[in-house]
Amino acid sequence: MFESLPLLPADPILGLSAAFQQDTNPNKVDLGVGVYKNDAGVTPVMAAVAAAERLRLNLENTKAYTSPAGYPGANNAVVGLVYGTGHTAVSDNRVRTIQTPGGCGALRVAAEFIQRAKPGATTWVSTPTWANHIPLLGSAGLTLREYPYYNYATHSIDFDAMVACLNNVPAGDLVLLHACCHNPSGADLSREQWQEVARLAQTRGFVPFVDMAYQGFGEGLDEDAYGIRLLAESVPELIIAASFSKNFGLYRERAGTLSLVFANETQANAGMSQLLSVTRGLYSMPPAHGSAIVDIILHNSGLTRQWQEELGQMRQRIQNLRAELVSALNQRQGERDFSFIAHERGMFSFLGLSVEQVHRLKNEFSIYMTDTSRISVAGLTTEKMAYVSQAIVNVLRA
Ligand code: PMP
Repeated sequence: MFESLPLLPADPILGLSAAFQQDTNPNKVDLGVGVYKNDAGVTPVMAAVAAAERLRLNLENTKAYTSPAGYPGANNAVVGLVYGTGHTAVSDNRVRTIQTPGGCGALRVAAEFIQRAKPGATTWVSTPTWANHIPLLGSAGLTLREYPYYNYATHSIDFDAMVACLNNVPAGDLVLLHACCHNPSGADLSREQWQEVARLAQTRGFVPFVDMAYQGFGEGLDEDAYGIRLLAESVPELIIAASFSKNFGLYRERAGTLSLVFANETQANAGMSQLLSVTRGLYSMPPAHGSAIVDIILHNSGLTRQWQEELGQMRQRIQNLRAELVSALNQRQGERDFSFIAHERGMFSFLGLSVEQVHRLKNEFSIYMTDTSRISVAGLTTEKMAYVSQAIVNVLRA
């Protein structure tokens, strides 16, 4: 039977990483995959994570199954991180949280959960959105539609168009929002814009579904959760998919969480039973190690402080690189204004190049990025800044 399966093209981002690995040019630069790297081009194990792993090694006395909700204790720590302390949705006992295999696992479980509540429910995603949102949600059977978000010409959010669209979203549809560090654009909603979205969700009756893959990479841990916390106050139902891949550097451990706000405690209990039945049918229970690390760090004030400092350094490094890139490009040309890169947040920005220009960067300079000219800013280093900015200017001019 397998002979009927055609060969699929490589995933655009993973395919780019593979091509980068094979490139022998010593000057090569990988601006493709969204993985944090330090100035030595390494994705480090955070010191707080390494310390928590040592503690775990000494404390762990069994490898017996955990539970479909995940590692005991981790969920309440995560609730504090996501909702802050003393959120009324939590104290009203309307929140239910499970651990998932990464943010992808959270998105997929959420999609399966929505399918149970409302098969084929329409979910509105931003134009553009992270490419993997489409298979993660669509393969579960959700109907996907798009709302306008990023304006490539102005390098900013087209908020009027977004509002005009959301104003016509029927009650009971879902709207997928990026909590912070919008992937792929780097353009985030302001606080006033979040307030408007929350008001629209209230009046229109759509259910916000928030993906938070970069909490702490934008402005700060609490600042980046502003929209989520506001929505959790404003609407009866909310879905949050969060990832610990970036902010704890736990990528390969597959640590994430799915947290839902329900209208009342009775619905929350029913919803939780459904969630656990969904995960039981998908993978039974999530991996324990990454969540255990998150749990240890968040329950230990010294490690929490250390982790927050390290996260702050990563955030600052990305912001510095953004500013450095803008000034390196400005020094070399005056035709284009790249200052938007310094105002955007998180791992990504669009350079605004054509596909041909992106291919020239790869073929002539061994600088790798997706065809949309999305760059992962953390893939830059101060040392490579002159090389990269000169190459960009060269392909822009020729
Ligand atoms: N959402 C967004 C917007 C992302 O960029 C990512 C990671 N690239 C994820 C979710 C999922 O992250 P993971 O499954 O690696 O935790």
